Amino acid sequence: MAPRASSRAAARRSLVFPTLPRRPMPPAPCAEEEPVGFWVADEFAAWIVDTFIRPGGPLANEEHAHLNDARLGVLWTNAINRSQQREVMATAEIPGIQAGGWRRARFEWQLAQWFGTAPDFPLTFSGPIARTLSDRAFCALVSHELHHCAQALDQYGDPKFDAVGAPMYAIKGHDLEQFVGVVQQFGVTSAAERAFLAAAASAPDVGDDAIEIACGTCLRAAA
Ligand SMILES: [Zn+2]
Repeated sequence: MAPRASSRAAARRSLVFPTLPRRPMPPAPCAEEEPVGFWVADEFAAWIVDTFIRPGGPLANEEHAHLNDARLGVLWTNAINRSQQREVMATAEIPGIQAGGWRRARFEWQLAQWFGTAPDFPLTFSGPIARTLSDRAFCALVSHELHHCAQALDQYGDPKFDAVGAPMYAIKGHDLEQFVGVVQQFGVTSAAERAFLAAAASAPDVGDDAIEIACGTCLRAAA
């Protein structure tokens, strides 16, 4: 039974990945240790929109639909970023969450230098790590970062807009990160856990290669 299951899983994967637009790769200098740099990756940003956000994209997910109107600013870097003894693969940010004063102004100015106008969500990816990832792991990493990129909610739980009707954005944590202990002790008690179990049960394939994502946004939140 096991070999048949794994060949079925491989067939499913091969159905998905050859249809992807060509996967973005970091520029050659980003593979070197020195000099450290950041590279604007407009093609990577366009690939994310085409693959994950645009309706009908090969890995489109309606949970990312609000990002159709968002500006993503994607950077590659070879700078090493360690957090909690793990090497960070990627981060998702919003400019507004930086500290105020010059720190925030400097960050926004730098983003404008790179992207023209400051993007709603700067996304940073480690080039040296991304090169080593399988297509599936790379896509899981990108999808993970996009799940952090949320529309802010008002007090009634509805999507929030500013005074001129533009969506307001926020960085979202994970539905489940602090719930494992609760589930172990008490079983499934919350709607988020039920939703997760239903998603896991209906997923076509959990895969035979473990994907462990070291995300700077998560590691910072957990610190
Ligand atoms: Zn994360």
